[in-house]
Amino acid sequence: MKNFNYHQSTEIRFGIGRINELAETVKKYGNKVLLVTTATTNPAFEEQYTRVKKILRDGGVEVAHYDGVIPNPTIESITAGAEIARNFGAEVVVGLGGGSSMDSAKAISVAATHEGSCWDYLFYKSPQPDPEKLLPVIAVSTTSGTGSQVTQVAVVTNTQERDKSALYNNILYPEVCIIDPELMLTVPAFVTATTGFDVLCHAFESTINPGTGAYVDLLAWEAIAIVVKNLPKLLADLKDIKAREKMAWADTLAGLCIANAGVTLPHGMGMAIGGMYPQVAHGEALAIVYPAFVEFTWEAAIPQFSKLARILNPELNAVTDKEAAAQSQNEICRFLKQIQLNKKLRDVNMPENEIEKLADQCMVLPDYEGNPRVATKEDMIELIKSSF
Ligand code: NAD
Repeated sequence: MKNFNYHQSTEIRFGIGRINELAETVKKYGNKVLLVTTATTNPAFEEQYTRVKKILRDGGVEVAHYDGVIPNPTIESITAGAEIARNFGAEVVVGLGGGSSMDSAKAISVAATHEGSCWDYLFYKSPQPDPEKLLPVIAVSTTSGTGSQVTQVAVVTNTQERDKSALYNNILYPEVCIIDPELMLTVPAFVTATTGFDVLCHAFESTINPGTGAYVDLLAWEAIAIVVKNLPKLLADLKDIKAREKMAWADTLAGLCIANAGVTLPHGMGMAIGGMYPQVAHGEALAIVYPAFVEFTWEAAIPQFSKLARILNPELNAVTDKEAAAQSQNEICRFLKQIQLNKKLRDVNMPENEIEKLADQCMVLPDYEGNPRVATKEDMIELIKSSF
């Protein structure tokens, strides 16, 4: 067996009704909490905030609510949250929402306690945040997508530089996460589809990343099978709590995978798209580049691509591994159509004259280097053209 490392420090509290434990959980770390969410003008989500705030206040916790998170959070939105945390004297930060809110909570914990902005503490910069200074973070996920509740990553966008990058450090794992599928019942169809596809991407990319190992593999293939079975079912009935529960579990498994193995080429491309075109949802960017990525890569990782293709279409069990892997682009495209995410870059208003600039951005983060077939600049331009 290949040697591997596996690390996870977040306490996971999973299951229907677990949100009722939030006040008791928070009080282990402090009595003054900054609740971090997207804007309350989102009526579908408002009932979740109201319920969570009541749970906290009924439990004797003092709450300041920062509702300035925007999808694909920016340096500015994190700085504003950090200022509120400081002025309020927050002892704990609770990120309630999708990846944007949970990542913001982690980045606010850094920005509220350190000089400069969160951008000064990106994964490749020095010094890194001081663990003694950080505010403890509790992540409450309300989408099933990013796995941020169990990762050491906080993704941030630099609007001025049109760049999306990340804080990444084992001290950024949330202390505790609460994953309660009831909180996900209000997620609209598009967010359900994009976040659900993100789960499949995390799991699959972790199996082809050189950092993978037996533990990650076990979790990743389970997550992929759950998504393929349950995401279309959930999109047919957004109130299906059993399917929500399954997707929340797959999301958590896939989060554990990326925290330990990492992602590859499509995520590097997706981050670049999100940085340059913040109107594009993270999972939507992944859906756009996946067919081109699969076609570019399958021959370099036949065992994994054949396995993926066979989960998507069990009839491929009758053909050889190479034949099955060769079908993986067709199968991914069929799945994307089924979940209504068969899109191209032109559909999300990317200007055609920015293809080369986007190719450069796709090569800023090291994700593409972990792909079984490493793209050159020319390859990257072709991948983008074919996604356009
Ligand atoms: P999101 O957090 O941006 O949320 C998308 C939209 O859904 C928002 O408008 C939000 O208000 C709404 N929403 C969330 N929960 C809802 C609910 N229960 N009911 C109704 N509406 C709800 O989406 P996301 O895809 O979860 O997060 C994307 C961000 O996470 C991106 O910035 C991405 O880069 C980052 N990310 C982080 C990691 C990590 O490990 N930290 C991994 C992958 C992606």
